[in-house]
Amino acid sequence: MIINFRDAVRFFTTVTPAGHCPMCKNNNWGIAIQEEDKTLCYLTLSTNQQNGIRSYDLHLTCNDCGYLRVHRAKALKAWIDSNEEDPGEPV
Ligand SMILES: [Zn+2]
Repeated sequence: MIINFRDAVRFFTTVTPAGHCPMCKNNNWGIAIQEEDKTLCYLTLSTNQQNGIRSYDLHLTCNDCGYLRVHRAKALKAWIDSNEEDPGEPV
């Protein structure tokens, strides 16, 4: 599975706009990106299984207190697929 960093930012600012850190209450998250290609998110394979299938996770880290937040990549992918970026939209 591939999630573009730009799409992940669109997802989080649209779907979880009030995503303040539950620990320090700041809203300053870092999204894990790939070392080799910084336009792509770094996904990890989940340790849990659902119906025998392991899923991909995307980790966010609070830049202020280090709190870790995890989202199933599947949910981002579904949203991104049905919410394509408007090419005319200013960056
Ligand atoms: Zn925090």
